Amino acid sequence: MPDRMLQFVAIPQQTPAKRAVAVRAGDFQEIYDEYLPAQAATQASRCSQCGVPFCQVHCPLSNNIPDWLKLAAEQRLEEAYEVSAATNNFPEICGRICPQDRLCEGNCVIEKGFDSVTIGAVERFITDTAFEQGWVKPAQPRRERAQSVGIIGAGPGGLAAADQLRKLGYQVHVYDRYDRVGGLMIYGIPGFKLEKPVVARRAALLAEGGVRFHLNCAVGVDVTLADLRARHDAVLIATGVYRARDIGGPGAGLGGIVPALDYLTAANRIGLGDAVPAFADGTLDARAKRVVVVGGGDTAMDCVRTAVRQGAASVTCLYRRDRANMPGSLREVKNAEEEGVRFQWLAAPEAFLGTLDVRGVRVVKMHLGLPDPSGRQAVEPLHGSSFTVPADLVIKSLGFDPEDLPGAFGAPALTVSPRGTLRIDQHSFMTSLPGVFAAGDIVRGASLVVWAIRDGRDAAAAMHAHMQHALQVAA
Ligand SMILES: Cc1cc2nc3c(=O)[nH]c(=O)nc-3n(C[C@H](O)[C@H](O)[C@H](O)COP(=O)(O)OP(=O)(O)OC[C@H]3O[C@@H](n4cnc5c(N)ncnc54)[C@H](O)[C@@H]3O)c2cc1C
Ligand code: SF4
Repeated sequence: MPDRMLQFVAIPQQTPAKRAVAVRAGDFQEIYDEYLPAQAATQASRCSQCGVPFCQVHCPLSNNIPDWLKLAAEQRLEEAYEVSAATNNFPEICGRICPQDRLCEGNCVIEKGFDSVTIGAVERFITDTAFEQGWVKPAQPRRERAQSVGIIGAGPGGLAAADQLRKLGYQVHVYDRYDRVGGLMIYGIPGFKLEKPVVARRAALLAEGGVRFHLNCAVGVDVTLADLRARHDAVLIATGVYRARDIGGPGAGLGGIVPALDYLTAANRIGLGDAVPAFADGTLDARAKRVVVVGGGDTAMDCVRTAVRQGAASVTCLYRRDRANMPGSLREVKNAEEEGVRFQWLAAPEAFLGTLDVRGVRVVKMHLGLPDPSGRQAVEPLHGSSFTVPADLVIKSLGFDPEDLPGAFGAPALTVSPRGTLRIDQHSFMTSLPGVFAAGDIVRGASLVVWAIRDGRDAAAAMHAHMQHALQVAA
């Protein structure tokens, strides 16, 4: 066991072992191994325990990272778990899929000369160990409250709020149009980043603690928002963003051009053992196909790596900017490159070629122009630079916008921003409808799991205050 911290000068950074490409490309299991206890302690001991921990400042949950690193270094893992769980409902999930290079680890002070502390891997290790040891317990509220809340959406935002409110003793009901709990953590993010049992054990724990799930229940179809407002003392909307941005242009309507989330959801469902007709008939299966993915975010990276695992003949990613400007995590780009994905930087589709089904993409080269007012460089096509990439399956991954919630919920008084996200009061988290709150991607636009957790926790605190106030007024 290390006897002190600040070991970064003597001990080099060691990330958990990554499974060999030839092995991992053949399955959907996570690619990183878990630390052994001694490794986790040694890596945690590299923390410099700085006075102003920038890792904590740049963690959306303000996790007390230096504290749990010190406890992990001392192998006081149960205490480390308690500290970690105090600010994060799902530390083992964030440890796996946060883009740490942009958040905590990217701001670690020793990063400048010595490579950052492997914060995410230690965080994951602490809570996985806590599960193994039986330290993670279902909610045990000190007292039951009669008031109830309705939460629309069982993604990380809704689940974090459910956890917080159940711990306070509220009767918590979560409604989701899907058949499983987890939102994009189940049907978007592939198993090679986050294995499904990791999400399922959280869902089971919440149910054991008294959270009631109403699955296959689409609000706006099976039940109305007005029903839920009448049924519960407060309602939280945490429905995420699901309207895929589309590509136009010649040939955009050909067969074999599919939206990213349809493709990923099918792959995730197959992994979970579901029957998916559009996979069985080959529409959403990349096997033996020449695959082109358009886009450069995390979703695009998940698509290219899923296609590799399905046995695609070739996988090409087209992105209109360069590597340095990729919106996705660079760690995931590197993993994709290792797995044989070909990146075509500064390239955008101009037309899709084929008669009935797509057979190729005509691509035009781009160059980065002058920065716009936000500082981001504009992209402009280089005339006469077109070339063709053969393709049997094109996956569109250009981002997501919110659905028309006021329309879907039959609630025209629900105020949205020009881009369709729900407007909330920044302090009360309340929407324009009294007693109706909102959190996660539906407020921020497509974001991250860690931010959805943060929003869910903040919204839960605001809902608690609102319901307490209502009780006082009624008394
Ligand atoms: C492919 C992909 C990969 C990603 N990878 C990462 C990553 O590596 N790291 C990371 O941090 N983030 C990642 N993200 C982003 C992350 O998944 C989201 O930011 C996060 O899940 C948002 O949480 P949420 O609770 O707001 O919404 P969601 O997770 O989208 O959950 C919303 C839930 O609401 C339900 N719902 C919607 N409408 C209704 C309705 N009318 N009635 C009932 N239920 C409804 C949905 O079924 C869903 O279960 C990824 C996203 C995608 C698409
Ligand atoms: S929650 Fe995410 S940002 Fe915060 S410490 Fe964990 S991995 Fe880093």
